[in-house]
Amino acid sequence: MSDPIVLSPDSDGFSPIAFQRLAERFPNGIEASLPILESQLRRLKDSSISLLEPLVVSMGFDGQRQIRVGFDVALRTDCMRCMKPVDRRLALSADVLLFDTAEQADRAMMSDPEVDAVSTEDQRDFTELIEDEILLEIGHGLTHSDCQPTLKDESGRPNPFQDLAQLLSMKKPS
Ligand SMILES: [Zn+2]
Repeated sequence: MSDPIVLSPDSDGFSPIAFQRLAERFPNGIEASLPILESQLRRLKDSSISLLEPLVVSMGFDGQRQIRVGFDVALRTDCMRCMKPVDRRLALSADVLLFDTAEQADRAMMSDPEVDAVSTEDQRDFTELIEDEILLEIGHGLTHSDCQPTLKDESGRPNPFQDLAQLLSMKKPS
């Protein structure tokens, strides 16, 4: 077992993500960890999402066209109901296909909605990719699990089973 390799997101080919540079630098692929600082995640701050622990992304580049990213981190944001902090652990892994041109990346995503693709032309940083994944998961906001509005039986909403009982009794031959 060799020591785990720790890369910087500023390493060649990651900032911005450049497919040819990655392939040249890691022709046999690489498995590595990339620590990402909260200060690099500007859009999370804009969405009032903060990290509760250091974010370390595990990254595998196959030397061909695919990078696999994974992370497991605790995040904090404001509950959409009570506006108090709400914490959530987020574990994610995603495969991202790499292309030279934006057209190729678009085509790959169009042909398969499950595919995540970036191109060298997109000029995106690795950290932006991670931000995207986090925002996709919790950017729409979080609520405390016990912070739901209380649905009361006496709220005037008809009970569907009552309706059914009524319907059945109406159909009964008199
Ligand atoms: Zn709440």
